[in-house]
Amino acid sequence: MTVIDLTQARKDRTPHSTGDARCLQCGHEWLATAPVGEVWLECPACKIERGAFIGPSYPNDGQVWQCNCGNQLFLLTPDGPLCPQCGVYSEPD
Ligand SMILES: [Zn+2]
Ligand SMILES: [Zn+2]
Repeated sequence: MTVIDLTQARKDRTPHSTGDARCLQCGHEWLATAPVGEVWLECPACKIERGAFIGPSYPNDGQVWQCNCGNQLFLLTPDGPLCPQCGVYSEPD
């Protein structure tokens, strides 16, 4: 009989983000992975929940669009995603 941990299975299905984080308590910086929308992250150094993403954080399932110019941040417009770096509207391949 296979026992499934439902809490873990639900956690595995939750979309996660990855990005650089810094602890406001002790100043430690690390590459954090947390459920999307999580504001305070537990610091791996001091174990206090005062870490925060300090730059863009990305979904960690590999599904990230990138403009031909290398930019990954888009403006959502009525005409589609616009790259603010080169001014080109992008479409998925
Ligand atoms: Zn810390
Ligand atoms: Zn671009």
